Amino acid sequence: MGNAERVFVGLGANLGDAQANLREALRRLDEALQTRVVAVSSFYRSAPVEAGGPDYVNAVAELRTQLTPQALLAQLQVIERHAGRERPYHHAPRTLDLDLLLFGERRVNSPGLVVPHPRLALRAFVLVPLAELAPQLRLTDGRNVVQALAALTGQRVDVIGR
Ligand code: ADP
Ligand code: MG
Repeated sequence: MGNAERVFVGLGANLGDAQANLREALRRLDEALQTRVVAVSSFYRSAPVEAGGPDYVNAVAELRTQLTPQALLAQLQVIERHAGRERPYHHAPRTLDLDLLLFGERRVNSPGLVVPHPRLALRAFVLVPLAELAPQLRLTDGRNVVQALAALTGQRVDVIGR
């Protein structure tokens, strides 16, 4: 894909068959217009942050896309809705959560979209799978993924497998 940006998407689910929801989302992402999934991390289990409910299954996917960040976000939201996601309240348990983590070197600051994702460097359930795919990737604060992860303590993330 010419001119495609290197993009990372965080996937999470803690309702229903969470692993199946992630697999279906990855399939749909790969089928999205002008978009390919080029790598997927292992699946991980993590306790909910700032919320109750079942443990999450998390993963990170690396994409190439020719979509704009806004168009890709719209695709992510279509896939979330297809998984039956409802948004009854903030941090509610969900069948599928797709977060646009990084979009090449781009920065976006609009009401509906902030890239890089503002909580990326605070969440072990994002950094652990991201470190599998791109350990040396630089975050906006100049640290790489492994350095950011080393600064986090007390967040348990266990590998499940593929
Ligand atoms: P969270 O993922 O923080 O638990 P939601 O998935 O409910 O919360 O997202 C709430 C809103 O966050 C979405 O409607 C979306 O417009 C906005 N948003 C802003 N930046 C991003 C991003 N980088 N990736 C995904 N959603 C984002
Ligand atoms: Mg989200």
